Amino acid sequence: MNPLLTTCPVCGEALHVIRLECDACHTAIEGRFTLGRLGRLSREQLEFVELLLKNRGNINGVAGDLKVAYNTARSRLDEIVAALGYGPPAADARPDRRAILDRLAAKEISVEEALRLLKS
Ligand SMILES: [Zn+2]
Repeated sequence: MNPLLTTCPVCGEALHVIRLECDACHTAIEGRFTLGRLGRLSREQLEFVELLLKNRGNINGVAGDLKVAYNTARSRLDEIVAALGYGPPAADARPDRRAILDRLAAKEISVEEALRLLKS
């Protein structure tokens, strides 16, 4: 079975489902069914989300699986959140302690840098 197409290959707009079929008895149901928010994501983005769940929300783990830098994985996650229709985090958000500790664990920043970021 082919993976689900999430955007129109002709114009790039969102798709919806109009026909469903039972695997066992092949009963078909027609109508207009939404793919939901996750259905707005590209196949690559859905794979990223699956990896994020597999890694129990740990972006460092996703970065390791994808063999990319933490910051790359982090910005892909931001793109996915935006694609789902959620806005950016509040401008006055305090530094993300978890993200700082993740970066420290990945040795992207020093202990001194982590302490400085945590205090800011
Ligand atoms: Zn059936």
